[in-house]
Amino acid sequence: MRRHKSKLVVVPLGEVDFFQLNKLTANLSALFSIPSDILQGMKLPKEAHNIIKNQYFSTVLLQKLELLKASQREAVLGILEEDLYNATNAYVVGDSDRLANCSVISYYRIRQEFYGLPEDERLVFKRILKESAKHVGRILGLSLCRNPRCVMYYSDEMFDIDQKGEKLCDICQRTYYRIR
Ligand SMILES: [Zn+2]
Repeated sequence: MRRHKSKLVVVPLGEVDFFQLNKLTANLSALFSIPSDILQGMKLPKEAHNIIKNQYFSTVLLQKLELLKASQREAVLGILEEDLYNATNAYVVGDSDRLANCSVISYYRIRQEFYGLPEDERLVFKRILKESAKHVGRILGLSLCRNPRCVMYYSDEMFDIDQKGEKLCDICQRTYYRIR
């Protein structure tokens, strides 16, 4: 089955740095050779907020993002600063719905200040790019990869994210061109 997507749509959820968002979108566009758009920001939906945990439920955010799709051929990536969780994990950096072709990614645990360290914008950008690429790759039809240098490598810990590369490995690259 061809899963060809015509466009990547990036959606800031709540307050997100626009300069970083632009740069991220341009990089993802180039990596997957796909046109992109940045939508005007969406307010963080109250119904996704768990007041006790002070986290956002990724499943609800993914449902909201799906509603923004103008066509089935769009892939949507939502970005927020707040922490995420889902039904199986107490926290997640990002989450995807591969049927809806939507992903959501959070800066919260990617930021150095979460670990009590001085902020490092360059490092944070690399991390958000790699993790966004992993999720966007999934909704564009790629699987997670066993190559620890590949951007599609399974990574949830910052160490793995920092170790892996920003590009698709040869195998993922070939797969991607085949399924596009
Ligand atoms: Zn790979």
